[in-house]
Amino acid sequence: MVRQFMEMVRIDSESGNEARFLQYLLAELKAMGAAAALDAYGNLIASFPPLGCAGKEPILLSCHGDTVKPGVGIEPVLGSDGVIRSGGDTILGADDKAGIAEVLEAVRVATVRPPLEFAVSRQEEVGLTGVKNLDFSRLRSRRGFLMDNDTLETIVIGGPSYFAIDVTVTGRGAHAGMEPEKGINAILAAARAIAALRLGRLDPETTANVGVIQGGVIRNGVPASCTFLAECRSAEHAKAAALAEEMTSTIRAQVQAAGAAVEIAVDEKCRAVRISEDAWSVRVAREALGRVGIDAKPVFITGFTDASIYNNRGIEMAVVGIGAQGEHSTEECIAVADMERAVRMIEEIFRIAAR
Ligand SMILES: [Zn+2]
Repeated sequence: MVRQFMEMVRIDSESGNEARFLQYLLAELKAMGAAAALDAYGNLIASFPPLGCAGKEPILLSCHGDTVKPGVGIEPVLGSDGVIRSGGDTILGADDKAGIAEVLEAVRVATVRPPLEFAVSRQEEVGLTGVKNLDFSRLRSRRGFLMDNDTLETIVIGGPSYFAIDVTVTGRGAHAGMEPEKGINAILAAARAIAALRLGRLDPETTANVGVIQGGVIRNGVPASCTFLAECRSAEHAKAAALAEEMTSTIRAQVQAAGAAVEIAVDEKCRAVRISEDAWSVRVAREALGRVGIDAKPVFITGFTDASIYNNRGIEMAVVGIGAQGEHSTEECIAVADMERAVRMIEEIFRIAAR
């Protein structure tokens, strides 16, 4: 498993550039006896027949095949402390290739297993684009587990609604020293709008942010254009939707009061999901982790994962850990002992689902 994990992270697969890695995985899965193919969008879907049981419902395991940046030229190093880190100035790619390596290992070593489907999405890190375009007609499972939480100590049972708000403010350019009164300052209009927004944590389950602003070309020109990127999210869909609406109308009113024009694009990226703590997949994950000696707690997170889309599409998915630390940073690392615990958890999931 460790050898294969290190081999996989050496294959570059930043979001949008996963094809070579998924081809590698496709060949590997077929060699392991799976029926496997890519769907029209390039997501990988595989299925394994049951082992040592009959008449059981299939379960789905899922990971994503892409990584964040900087993820080109990853050189994994296994230290004498049993921890795998990246040797260079890159991420490690444990997110989510450790999950993939653990699933493959569990399939290899398990002595009992229900009918198993394994989906590996692409472009997860850039807005769950792969899973949103997944060919769900190829999946039979009604429940399963997403292997994409960092710690094994928690089970993610939900994520928020998320709105991306792209704003383009258009003013009028003019010489800043000679004839400023002929201009309309787009940066000032955008600044007024942003200053009027409620940002940060608005209540325990609702947040808003402006994360990017760009505008102007030269110091001595009244800027004609300014763009900024905002977002809002909430565990409650209605709250997130109302907040997106509030932010949009505040921006529009402020920009117009400053005499500039505005274009606002609102994109509902993800719809809030919360599965019950008593849901089958949560109970099975807790029992499996318990058998490995981990008392895992169900948690709701304000980030999102492919599980939000699976749950929205009617496949009950709990998100379980892969054992990684420091994801999305060059400090990302994973202990071999934690990978082994994750494999044992998956074996226990198989055993419970097959009983
Ligand atoms: Zn991930």
